[in-house]
Formats: sequence, C-alpha cells, structure tokens
Amino acid sequence: MSMKERLIGLYKLNKVDRELHELMSLRGDIPIRIEDLESEKREHDNRAAELRKELEDIIAAEEGVQTENDTLLEKIEKNDERLRSGALKSNKEYDALAKEIEDAKEKIKLNEKASKEDNSGRKAEIENELSLIAGQLEEVIAELETNNHELEELTKQTGEEEKELIAERDEILKNIDPEDFAHYERISKVKYGEAVAIVRKGSCLGCYSSIPPQKAIEIRMAEKFYACESCGRILIAEELITA
Ligand SMILES: [Zn+2]
Repeated sequence: MSMKERLIGLYKLNKVDRELHELMSLRGDIPIRIEDLESEKREHDNRAAELRKELEDIIAAEEGVQTENDTLLEKIEKNDERLRSGALKSNKEYDALAKEIEDAKEKIKLNEKASKEDNSGRKAEIENELSLIAGQLEEVIAELETNNHELEELTKQTGEEEKELIAERDEILKNIDPEDFAHYERISKVKYGEAVAIVRKGSCLGCYSSIPPQKAIEIRMAEKFYACESCGRILIAEELITA
C-alpha cells in the first residue's frame, strides 16, 4: 500500500468516525443519566438489604429471649405445682423452690425490659428508613424507565444508520495498517475524534494555522506522514482526496 493510500484510508476512517460521533451525540446525556440512576438504585438496594438484615437479627434475638422466657414460665408452673402438691418434705426444700420461682419471674421481667429498651427504638428507626428508601427507589425506577424508553426510541431511529456506518468502518479498517490505526487513535483521543486535517491553500483546516509552502508541497507528495506543527493532526492535502 502506498503512503497516499494509507493517508486516504485514515481520512475516510475519520469521516465515518465523525458521522458516528454525531449520531451518538443525538442521544445526548441519556446514557450517562441511565448510568447514574442505575448506580443510585444499587446504593438504595444495598442499604435496604443491610437494614433488612439488621431487622432480622433483632427479631431473631427477640425470639431467643421469648424462647428463654417460655422455658422459664414452664419451670415456674412445674415448681408451683410441686409447691401446692404438698409433696415437699422440708421447709428447706420449700424455700429453695420458692426462691427458684422468684428468680425465674425476675429474670423474665428483666428480659422483657431489656429487649424493649434495646430494640424498640432501633426497630422504628429501621422501619422509617426502609419506607423512605422504598419511596426513593420508586422514583429512581420510574425515572430509569423513562430514560430507557427514550434511549430505545432514539436508538430505533438511528440504529439502522449506525449499523451501516459501523459496517463501513469495518470495511475501511481492513485496509488500514494496525500501526497507522494506533497512531490515528492516539491523536483522535486528544482531538475529540478529529485526527486527520485537510491542507487547503497552505492552511491546516484543523486549526487554521498556515503551513510553509515547501512543506505544503511535501504534504501533497505524501511520501510520509506529516503532523500539523500547531495542532498535531495528521495532515492530508486536499488534492489527494478530490483527485
Ligand atoms: Zn493544525
């Protein structure tokens, strides 16, 4: 492939890339908005999961206390029966049993009090925050749906054109040397998709700076790549693409 052909290839690539870029810019900031909304939704989901887990732990702890209290109550009932049955042989035995009942009742009271103090406030807080998150989530999801729908509509309109441009680009790329492509991409990245500039009447059309006549002649002869000294774009003489 001659140097001229290599340059023309890059010029064509730039043209297609420009059209693709314009097509993408029709979508405006919708894709970015969708990304933001999705990350917002993830944050809410994570926080809600955290809170639900905390609530479950509290409930499990409360159930543990409830089980302990049930066992204590059973014990109290049994001991009560024995006390009343008159089967106890000594005062000592009687006192011991009475004390056991007292202790169990005291423990139940303490358990209930502790459980209420520890948890009721926190549980209400969690419920509050969860319902707040549910409201926010609802809004985020509705907004996401709107944006997704909008993007879908826009893509429907431009999708066919985009497909054609991408096919055209693939075709052009087949005739572009990988090293030339890497060179192009490097410049394209810093020049917002405009890596190649036309030289017309001694000026770079990328930045409108003038090019010395001798250099303009060399650019026309295209025996190597020339970069614009002021903007850095790959230069191609207009005569090469209109010929
Ligand atoms: Zn320039």
